[in-house]
Amino acid sequence: MAEKIIIEQDGNLKVPDNPIICFIEGDGIGPDIWRASKKIFDAAVEKAYSGRRKVEWKEILAGEKAKEQTGSYLPEDTIEAIKEYVIAIKGPLTTPIGGGIRSINVTLRQRLDLFACVRPVRYFQGVPSPVKNPEKLDIVIFRENTEDVYAGIEWESMTPEARSIISYINETFDKSIIPDSGIGIKPISPFGTRRLMRMALNYAIKNNRKSITIMHKGNIMKYTEGAFAKWAYQEAEENFRDKIIKESEITDGVDTTGKIIIKDRLADSMFQQILLRPEEYDIIVTPNLNGDYLSDAAAAQVGGLGMAPGANIGKWALFEATHGTAPKYAGLDKVNPGSLILSGVMMFNHIGWNEVADMIVNGLQRTISSKYVTYDLARQMDGAIEVKCSEFADKIIENL
Ligand code: NAP
Repeated sequence: MAEKIIIEQDGNLKVPDNPIICFIEGDGIGPDIWRASKKIFDAAVEKAYSGRRKVEWKEILAGEKAKEQTGSYLPEDTIEAIKEYVIAIKGPLTTPIGGGIRSINVTLRQRLDLFACVRPVRYFQGVPSPVKNPEKLDIVIFRENTEDVYAGIEWESMTPEARSIISYINETFDKSIIPDSGIGIKPISPFGTRRLMRMALNYAIKNNRKSITIMHKGNIMKYTEGAFAKWAYQEAEENFRDKIIKESEITDGVDTTGKIIIKDRLADSMFQQILLRPEEYDIIVTPNLNGDYLSDAAAAQVGGLGMAPGANIGKWALFEATHGTAPKYAGLDKVNPGSLILSGVMMFNHIGWNEVADMIVNGLQRTISSKYVTYDLARQMDGAIEVKCSEFADKIIENL
């Protein structure tokens, strides 16, 4: 019988053999990639556990389908269902133009306080890449999701609010901001930073990762980005001391076996480092804006911008395709479902069904290696056999 996933007192998940997991199909190409992904998820679970385990998928509504059926782009029931069932996976959603909602994705993250945006970036053999050794990059980015200049606290040039803030700052603190400037506020807190770092540390321990790099621009923005680095180190030292070693503590003869190395890099240098010395980086923890830029740059480096998975995690977790709804391909059974499939891999790892996750990754790798790929990869690969979205899924299932 299907049951709910439960969050236990210690924060760990109790996952039944027949968990109910919510899905949002998504707009545009969403239904195509969801159909393809679900088929793979079900086949992999069946193959891994021979019927002992099975996911009960529960559809919840958001986006255009929700608007049609309920009159709202993001019904309250959807938010409540994610809280109740703990985990959900979603296709892309159109950002409504007008109608009072800035972005359904952003609203979901805010309403559910999904404070970490987690993006693994790794290479799949055979995917066209712009660098010589894309396989050397294998990182997981933990991007803060609620603070920084993305908190949405900003005022347009010449508005009464912007003028009032500028005159307050200029007069009270003897500064000279040009009076017709636009103004944005960059809040970064110890609470927001430390809970993100804690999540990254727990992830590193659980997944035997080697190092965590705190990426920041603290040489210039001392009390926001610099403080982010300070508070992240504090979290590691105060709550994980026996599990970590700081890079500055490593001298000749110091044994680092079994320890997670904690280091920090300036944001500009980080972009050089992932290109020049990618093998030295593992988990990267960073404020919102840096994380946004780095996620796409890193995904492009492995050729997988269209296949990059993501998750927004707080108390609850929402796994999602990171690309948009590509409306011109909607219903054509054409696009690459890789991003949603790999978000599913993250989801299975999150609930501890690692056999399923590994099986899907292997199936995807074998399918790409045999050059059966959707149009986006086919147009860049020599000798590729272009297949439809659903055929790509069938090939992956054959290769599980
Ligand atoms: P987009 O939907 O990501 O599409 C841009 C281009 O990326 C497509 O035309 C296609 O390129 C390629 N692409 C995207 N997904 C692909 C896939 N699965 N397989 C192969 N190629 C893929 O970006 P957009 O056109 O800027 O945005 C459309 C709508 O999506 C907007 O309403 C936007 O707000 C929304 N959006 C939602 C999310 C989300 O829900 N997380 C994220 C971003 C955007 P080619 O034409 O070159 O083949």
